[in-house]
Amino acid sequence: MPRDSRYDVLFEPVKIGPVTAKNRFYQVPHCTGLGWLRPRMVAHLRGIKAEGGWGVVCTEYCSIHPASDDLPHPYASLWDKGDIKAHSLMTELVHEHGALAGAELWAGGSRSANLFTNEVAMDVTSMPNIVGIPYQTRAMDKADIRELRRWHRAAALRAKAADFDIVYVYATHHYLLSHFLSAKTNTRSDEYGGSLENRVRLVRELIEETKDAVGDRCAVAVRFSADQASPIDGQPVIGEHREMLEMLAELPDLWDININDYSHEMGVSRFVKEASLEAHMSYVKSITSKPVVTVGRFTSPDTMVSQVRRGIVDFIGAARPSIADPFLPNKIREGRLDDIRECIGCNICYTGDSKATPIRCTQNPTISEEWRRGWHPENIAPKGSDSTVLVVGAGPAGLEATRALGKRGYQVLLAEADQWLGGRVTRESALPGLSEWARVRDYRVHQIQKMANVEIYLDNRMSADDVLDIEADHVVIATGAHWLANGKGLFNESALSTLGPVEQLFTPDDIMAGRLPTGPVVIFDDDHYYMASVIAERLRAENIAVTLVTPANQVSSWGQHTSEQTLIHCRLLDVGVEIITAHGLVGFDGQQAQLECSYSGKRRTLAAHSLVNVTLRAPDETLFRELQQRARTGGDSMPKSITRIGDCEAPSIIAGAVFAGHRYARELDTDVDPDNRIRYDRVFYEETTATD
Ligand code: ADP
Ligand code: SF4
Repeated sequence: MPRDSRYDVLFEPVKIGPVTAKNRFYQVPHCTGLGWLRPRMVAHLRGIKAEGGWGVVCTEYCSIHPASDDLPHPYASLWDKGDIKAHSLMTELVHEHGALAGAELWAGGSRSANLFTNEVAMDVTSMPNIVGIPYQTRAMDKADIRELRRWHRAAALRAKAADFDIVYVYATHHYLLSHFLSAKTNTRSDEYGGSLENRVRLVRELIEETKDAVGDRCAVAVRFSADQASPIDGQPVIGEHREMLEMLAELPDLWDININDYSHEMGVSRFVKEASLEAHMSYVKSITSKPVVTVGRFTSPDTMVSQVRRGIVDFIGAARPSIADPFLPNKIREGRLDDIRECIGCNICYTGDSKATPIRCTQNPTISEEWRRGWHPENIAPKGSDSTVLVVGAGPAGLEATRALGKRGYQVLLAEADQWLGGRVTRESALPGLSEWARVRDYRVHQIQKMANVEIYLDNRMSADDVLDIEADHVVIATGAHWLANGKGLFNESALSTLGPVEQLFTPDDIMAGRLPTGPVVIFDDDHYYMASVIAERLRAENIAVTLVTPANQVSSWGQHTSEQTLIHCRLLDVGVEIITAHGLVGFDGQQAQLECSYSGKRRTLAAHSLVNVTLRAPDETLFRELQQRARTGGDSMPKSITRIGDCEAPSIIAGAVFAGHRYARELDTDVDPDNRIRYDRVFYEETTATD
């Protein structure tokens, strides 16, 4: 289908200093949980994005010197020849597809304690480590500042040697340079502190010196915050940042603008919607003639065009939309808007950085697998036989298995007990704030509906006899899981015998099915992610009194890794949920819940008429077990394989179910060595000298 001409503007080339981007699609620097530790994995991840049409593809934050080390977060580095070699892998793959490659040079300051390199961290003054590690920084003296400038220049030259086209000065996100800019943190009395002019001096010097070092061939970009502080009542606090931008406006070749509040800048869709930085960006283009990029979880081409036409940005910046769909630009270019796999704003991708593990994505199961498993986000090998496949259950696991098997060309039957598709995704997306999660279902259903080789049977609860009657060659059981009401979980290692009466006990499945409790309600959260908090919000919408009890020290403590923990806590306070932390549930008699302190073991009671347990899920594996049993005695008439996947195998996050479905489809009729399923990436080592 030809593309609609109104999107043509997105495919105009844009000049950035000495280089030109082929279009306006710009993958801004983003973490991958791979960094310097996994050079081939990260190179191929970036290369795929270039193949998918992104005009600019950047690294993650890239340390200029061992004095900025952020382990356990796997940052990139440009310290020596080995790093140049590693990054060259990426730039080569990016250039193969006509895209520009950008390197984000980074100096950590008081955000990095250098626990790996054991170098003393430095910052504008002696400051506490701002992520809570009990180390302080050394206040930088003039000699330190000179050293930093030398390191930055040397790293820029190494970026050029690695064939990058864009080199960043990174002056935001509470790293070193933002502390020089801030009047709060910069209390120096020399020429690097005090007046605005002085506080901007180091950033100015770094821009000038980077241009001097590499500006003949590389563009110099600056990552900068449009505002000075977190918004008050939703209104940006621009403050001095506008003046600073005015002072530096024409110095770099490109402005990469974001905001101070990270949990808003890359907020989850429950709290932050598409194009949310627009209010902060309003003035930026009016004070510089240089191209401007910002992010906004842009997945709608109409929103993108509107941003460009209205002069908000020149480039459509993206981290998450490019992770969920590395081929987003090509799909717009080819007029295939219905094929876009839209980011759902869950921030599972961000957990890769915070947990120091390869990035994963709810929508894109191939991310991080490009090199080590050889998975491509759009291409998949044709079927390996004429086998037919029956998939039972149309949640995220079953839908993804069906989609990918269908794409391989297998004849697939998808049977679903409900009258609708999507399983847990459909149920959960009806909870407060989670509507965008339905995109997991919608993308897959849309793809499947185009396939003549896939048949869908709704309202079909399959028994073992039904399954065998179909005589499919392969059977995939993706029947999901259900929440338990018995209190068993992390805190209580076995089911509680002290819970009742049964009609006053609830689980998230009940609430999602419309079976609501009468208050006052205690929600016992031993799951520690989003579910208890959205159930609480749902009940508060019915004006039911709710107390959320958790054995952890924070509500939704795992939400720290998706950058939403604070926002969840604020939301619960806003809607009037009482919160009790550091307490587990040990009993409930229909009138009172009995709680136990996580530390002292001391018990207390809480008046409650209903109890909602958000604790543990049990796999719905009866059908699988029965089929296994029949297989043992069934002889030749049995399917060649019966496999369970997703929550039915082991309850997990939605990303886990999508991955399981994808993996099943990839591996059917292939020879996977069970002892060597993936290639293990290793770092390069090159002997270096003082002059490297
Ligand atoms: P997952 O996250 O693993 O995909 P879900 O719980 O989201 O799991 O989806 C499981 C789906 O399987 C649900 O839509 C459920 O209705 C369906 N299902 C469960 N048992 C059967 C069955 N016996 N026959 C057909 N569909 C089933
Ligand atoms: Fe978007 Fe979630 Fe994928 Fe991140 S993990 S890119 S937020 S869908």
